[in-house]
Parts: sequence; C-alpha cells; structure tokens
Amino acid sequence: MKKAYVDPQKCDRSPFCPAKRVCPVGAITQERSGFFGGGVSKVDEEKCIGCGKCVNFCPAGAIRMK
Ligand code: SF4
Repeated sequence: MKKAYVDPQKCDRSPFCPAKRVCPVGAITQERSGFFGGGVSKVDEEKCIGCGKCVNFCPAGAIRMK
C-alpha cells in the first residue's frame, strides 16, 4: 500500500497545516517550533491508510504518495 510522505524541503511549516486537519486517521503530526511557527509535518506510516486526501490539501505540494 502507498503511504503519504512529506518532503521536508517543500513543507512550508504552516501552523495551520490543512493536510493535518483533513487526515481521517490523524496520521499527520507537526512538531511545534517557536510561538507561531509550526514545524515540518510528518506522516506516521503506521497510521496512514493511504487514502491520498492530504496530497490535495497541502498548499505547498509537499506531500506525495509512495
Ligand atoms: S494518505 Fe490519508 S491516511 Fe495517509 S496521511 Fe494522508 S490523509 Fe492521512
């Protein structure tokens, strides 16, 4: 099964990461860094069910299925 992967070079670290919100299983998490800043988003491969929703919701185009 394919899993979502976040390219850390492309991730814009938005604290409002839409991909994180749309994931039905809560597989996307973000480390906080700084007061307003979010960190790079990460996909938990154990949780990801490969639905692909997050790919279209990432405004930075940082998520791919592989
Ligand atoms: S592919 Fe689906 S389950 Fe996997 S991280 Fe993206 S939204 Fe979540």
